[in-house]
Amino acid sequence: MLENLYQLLEDHYEEMVELRRHFHQYPELSFEEVETPKYIAAYHEKLGHEVRTEVGGRGVVATLKGGKPGKTVALRADFDALPIQEENDVPYKSKVPGVMHACGHDGHTATLLVLAKALNKLKDDLEGTVVFIHQHAEEYAPGGAIAMVEDGCLDGVDVIFGTHIWATGPLGEIGYRSGPAMAAADRYHITVKGKGGHGAQPHLTKDSIVIASQLVVNLQQIVSRRVDPIDSAVVSVGSFEAKNAFNVIADTVELTGTVRTFKEEVRTKVENEIGRITEGTCLAADAEFSYQFLRGYPATVNHKAETEFVAALAPNVPGVTDVVEAQPQMGGEDFAYYLEKVPGTFFFTGAEISDREVTYPHHHPKFDIDEKGLLVAANVLGAATIQYLSNQGVQPVNREEAGSVK
Ligand code: MN
Repeated sequence: MLENLYQLLEDHYEEMVELRRHFHQYPELSFEEVETPKYIAAYHEKLGHEVRTEVGGRGVVATLKGGKPGKTVALRADFDALPIQEENDVPYKSKVPGVMHACGHDGHTATLLVLAKALNKLKDDLEGTVVFIHQHAEEYAPGGAIAMVEDGCLDGVDVIFGTHIWATGPLGEIGYRSGPAMAAADRYHITVKGKGGHGAQPHLTKDSIVIASQLVVNLQQIVSRRVDPIDSAVVSVGSFEAKNAFNVIADTVELTGTVRTFKEEVRTKVENEIGRITEGTCLAADAEFSYQFLRGYPATVNHKAETEFVAALAPNVPGVTDVVEAQPQMGGEDFAYYLEKVPGTFFFTGAEISDREVTYPHHHPKFDIDEKGLLVAANVLGAATIQYLSNQGVQPVNREEAGSVK
């Protein structure tokens, strides 16, 4: 059955590329997706799948029931794009000014649609159910995942698998990681309110620029002095705004920034420390302040057994040349919410364009992928689905017997 699946996917590789290029040309921003979910729903309807639209807002969930009873596997692909003007000169360049698929979600969608078609052709032998979760709005918190979960997209689901196409990873490489794989991504806003005045009379003011500058420096102590060095955290100040004239001392400074962590206790600690340091710095300068910490996606924490299951089967999948333990990524991913509800794993599929002089990272105006990575992604997701269903779960894996790289 697996061999049939690989053959079907390879036979439909051109369609996968066409689909990816279609979505690439017509990108839609998070929470503004209209045509993409329509296209996806129509594709599944044509295959005869049970389709639910507007799941959690703009999500689409399609269900394929196999010919035999069994467990239920969910596969997820996100489909939103970014507010970026594409700078690639390719025939499939974005036709929407200022909007671009610069994270590969066009590829995720194409991969999942063609995989759905291939699994559909094997449905008589499929021992269970496959749920295709097409998620809107991954790029913009609160994201689509949490709403789709609340709207029941995981009802009856036993396990979930997902992958991210990785433009900076070599083609053929699968990166897996048990435990925290992607960071919690939070935002904060601080207002430092001093007292404005004449630039020549600083003693009559409370200079908010000086106070806020001090604050920026003091915030650097959180990662270096407060967080256990064995843990990871990022505290970045992303904007510092004081609007005034050259000879006027600013009344107010607005600071915003991002925090990335992998553990809930580190996350809470950083949240509290920013508040404490802001309070202390402003107190010392007799200034007022306000502080807001806005939680984004939690850390994406992969489940051990499901991660090892994928890592063990991946070497035998066509197109896979290397299976490596991935470094945790500081980027956030709302796949986290699915993993809080059901076991599963989120892995990385390399798709670097090898003959390009520079490899552009995700969210770059020149981001692009080697589309052969999509076939690799479909093969691994398909293999995980079929093996999980025919095993009725993840079997404990003996690494030495896990097979060698093909
Ligand atoms: Mn992404």
